[in-house]
Amino acid sequence: MLSKSRILNGLQCPKRLYLQVHRPDLAEVDAATEHRFQVGHEVGDVARTLQPGGKLMADDDLNAALAATERELAMPGDKVLFEAAVAHGGVLIRADILSRRAGDAELREVKSSTSVKDYHQPDVAVQVWTLRGAGVRLSRSFVTHIDNAFVYQGEGQYGGLLRDTDVSVAVGPDVGKVPGWVEQFSRVLDGAMPAVEMGAHCTDPFECPFQGHCSAGRPAFPVEILPRGGKTVVALREAGHRDLREVPEGMLKSANHLRVWRATISGQADIVRGAGAEVAALPYPRYYVDFETAQMAVPIWAGTRPYEQLPFQWSCHLEKSDGSLEQRGFLDLSGRPPMRTFAESLIGCLGTSGPVFSYSSFERTILAQSVVRFPDLAESIGRIMNRIVDLRPLAERSYYHPQMMGSWSIKSVIPTIAPELDYAALGEVQEGGQAQVAYLEAIHPNTLPERRQSIERDLTAYCARDTLAMVRLARFLMEQC
Ligand code: SF4
Repeated sequence: MLSKSRILNGLQCPKRLYLQVHRPDLAEVDAATEHRFQVGHEVGDVARTLQPGGKLMADDDLNAALAATERELAMPGDKVLFEAAVAHGGVLIRADILSRRAGDAELREVKSSTSVKDYHQPDVAVQVWTLRGAGVRLSRSFVTHIDNAFVYQGEGQYGGLLRDTDVSVAVGPDVGKVPGWVEQFSRVLDGAMPAVEMGAHCTDPFECPFQGHCSAGRPAFPVEILPRGGKTVVALREAGHRDLREVPEGMLKSANHLRVWRATISGQADIVRGAGAEVAALPYPRYYVDFETAQMAVPIWAGTRPYEQLPFQWSCHLEKSDGSLEQRGFLDLSGRPPMRTFAESLIGCLGTSGPVFSYSSFERTILAQSVVRFPDLAESIGRIMNRIVDLRPLAERSYYHPQMMGSWSIKSVIPTIAPELDYAALGEVQEGGQAQVAYLEAIHPNTLPERRQSIERDLTAYCARDTLAMVRLARFLMEQC
């Protein structure tokens, strides 16, 4: 019996399907993937509350769920079933919401995305094929997804959070392919492990948990490190190139690709002078800031929208002209909306003059959102925005080291200029995605105080590391570039 998720795994990559079934021990599920599952459950729970009178078909006992679903469908009358379990033709599905009114059934596949994606179509198609094969008179099928125009009014009122998009017609061509998929993937599972090379399919549509296993034995500088490699990487792979160091110069056209290629072959950093003088010309005191934000598919604070970037933490390193540094920070783990105190405390920290360094346009975007949310703070925030100096374009223009592996993220740059600021030496929080997951855990009512304190320590250390890294980068640019 092939479950729907196995068929979808097979469509992403037959090797993934094979490993999922025969070597699940090789999977490495990261915190971001676990968080995605968690978000999916939260959205699914809301979808159920919006379908009053629905019956859950034994969530954890498959045989009981199959029997209960069969029983329910055999009985006449209108109904709404959650997690309906149906098997047909070697395929097993659990339908998020299966409703029947006046004899006609409708399927709703609940997704945490804000629109219908291409990869939702085979997902729904497998269910449509199975339901129809099992004798269900299915009239329409929908993807039920988040409406990102929804504004939460509080009190658990989530009516309007989800929107149905009718995909009955769109999934038609894929429904016809299901028998072929069943045959193909049954053969995969009965045979030897398929030989599949790594590529874009390893992260699209989902992060494959077997990337660690599959990347063993890859070259130290695979062609995939070319920034925004897209079609170039595909062409290189089709020409048989795996190692960037073996690619002929003539196959690279973009100046940035050639720059990465040259540095990789030479093993030497590429330094372009000029950015250092721009940084050196800026006055003191200097402020280096970094923000952390959380996005919630299901908003928990009145006045917020799904997936809005809600700032809950900032760090600032204040640098004086004598080179002395002072770190300041804000972190609200109270569970109350942190956005207002975030903005007020930041205004208080940053004073009225001196450059405010960021690393990306993200901080500016969050400030612009704060202007809209708090018009009374608009003038103060606007003055801060006018002082922002984004270090990233300066770093991109001036510096590339082969160990950056095609990336100018601060976490890629820092090990090449200040290896002692190793993010891997931090606690549980070593990157932004983990910061968000940690924050959401910390504000959850069931989180124990000791655990909350541990998360607070990790978040504080992480955000401060980012701003100290920016100080070191600015000094590096002034000295070397
Ligand atoms: S890492 Fe890539 S090649 Fe390996 S199983 Fe996953 S999707 Fe397939």
